[in-house]
Amino acid sequence: MTTIASNLQAVRDAMAVAAAEAERAPDDVNLLAVSKSFAPEAIREAYEGGQTRFAESYLQEALHKIAALHDLPIEWHFIGPIQGNKTRAIAEHFAWVHSVDRLKIAERLSAQRPAHLPPLQACLQVNISNEASKSGIPHDAAAQLAKAVALLPRLRLRGLMAIPAPSDEVAVQREAFARLRELFEQLNRQGMQLDTLSMGMSHDFAAAIAEGATMVRIGTAIFGNRIYQKETT
Ligand SMILES: *Cc1c(COP(=O)(O)O)cnc(C)c1O
Repeated sequence: MTTIASNLQAVRDAMAVAAAEAERAPDDVNLLAVSKSFAPEAIREAYEGGQTRFAESYLQEALHKIAALHDLPIEWHFIGPIQGNKTRAIAEHFAWVHSVDRLKIAERLSAQRPAHLPPLQACLQVNISNEASKSGIPHDAAAQLAKAVALLPRLRLRGLMAIPAPSDEVAVQREAFARLRELFEQLNRQGMQLDTLSMGMSHDFAAAIAEGATMVRIGTAIFGNRIYQKETT
C-alpha cells in the first residue's frame, strides 16, 4: 500500500472509532479529502485508495487539477474564500461549495450555475469563534442568510460549515462544534431541511464527529504536511 492509501485507511479507521464512541453509524460521516497544495498524482493515488470526494481552496490551482484529472469521476468541493471574480468558475467546475458567507456571492453562484448541471450544493460558512481574521457569516446573522440562500433556484442549501479557532483541548473543540450543531438544529426546527454539518479537520475531527459532523474535511492526515505556494489571484 502507498503512504497515501495507508493514511486514508488510518483516517477511516479513526473516523469509525469516533462514530462508534458517539453511538453513530459510521456511514453518517463522509470523508472529504482536502488536496490543496498537492499534485494531481497524489489525488490519483488517493482515488485509487477508494476516495472520490476532494476539496480545494485556491481556484487557479484547483482548475489545473480538475483538468488534469478529468478522466476520474471525482466530486469536487470548493472550501476556500470566494471573491466575486471567482464565482463563475466555481459554479462551472464544482459539485459543492462550503464557503458561502454573503448573499451577493450566493446570488452570483446561482445565476452562473450552468443549466446542464444539477444545482450547486452549498453550505454556509459560519464564524463560530468570532475571530476578526476568519471568514464566515457571524453566528447571529446566519439564519437570515440561510433563508435567503434557500430560495435561490440554482443552489441547493445543504448545511453549515465552520473552521473554529484551533485548540488542543478536546473540550474547547467540542464546544465550538456544538455551537454550529445547535444553529443547524435551530434552522431545521424553523423548517429548513439541512442535512450537512461540514466540520472537523485533521487535528479535531474526532471532536467534530462527537458533536454531529456529517462531513469532515481532512488534508494533512491523508497527504502529509503542506508546503505552501500562496496563490495571488
Ligand atoms: C486546509 C483546510 C482543511 C484541511 O485541514 P487539515 O488540517 O490539513 O486537515 C479543512 N478545511 C478547510 C476549509 C481548509 O482550508
